[in-house]
Amino acid sequence: MFRRARRFLRGTPPPPVPPALQRARRLMDAGEYAEAALTFHDLAQKAEERFPERAPFLYFEAGHAAILCGDHKKAVAHFRSGLTLLASQQRFHRVQKAGARITAELRERGLQAEADEIETLIKNNLPTQLTAESSSPQKRAILPTHCPSCGAAVRPDEVEWLDEVTAECDYCGSPVRAEA
Ligand SMILES: [Zn+2]
Repeated sequence: MFRRARRFLRGTPPPPVPPALQRARRLMDAGEYAEAALTFHDLAQKAEERFPERAPFLYFEAGHAAILCGDHKKAVAHFRSGLTLLASQQRFHRVQKAGARITAELRERGLQAEADEIETLIKNNLPTQLTAESSSPQKRAILPTHCPSCGAAVRPDEVEWLDEVTAECDYCGSPVRAEA
C-alpha cells in the first residue's frame, strides 16, 4: 500500500499546486461559491485524464460549493460523478466514507430527496460484501488539519497513507506529514 512513498523518500519535490486549485480555494474563502463550483468542476474534468485519483475529490468540492450557492441539482450531479468514479477505481472504503459525509451534509441542509438519491447510488456501486478491513481504518499519526501546500482540509480517516506518518493530499497530491 506504500507504493508511492518511495518517490517522496528519494527527495522528489512535491508536485506544484495548480493555480486553478489555489484560485478555487480563494473563491470558497471569499464566498464566491458559484464561481468556485465551476472552477472545481473544471479541475475535476481535467484531472480525470492526468490525475484520475484526485478527480473524485475535486467533484466533491464542486458539489459542496454548488450546495453553498443553492444549486442543488448541480450539486447532486457533481457528487454522482465523484462517487461513480471512486467506485470505478475500486476505492470502496472511500466511497463509504465520502458518501456518508455527503449524505450527512445534504440531510443537515434539509435536502432529503437529494440525500436519498446519493444513498441509492452508493448502495448500487458498492460490492455486496465489503471486507472488515476495508471498513475499519487503522489508527495512525496525527495529521495537520489542512494541507500545507494547497490549504485543503485533511480528513485523517479518509486520506490515502504513504507511510505511517505521511498521507497524500487528495487535491494536490502533496505529502502531508504528521507534526512530530
Ligand atoms: Zn493539497
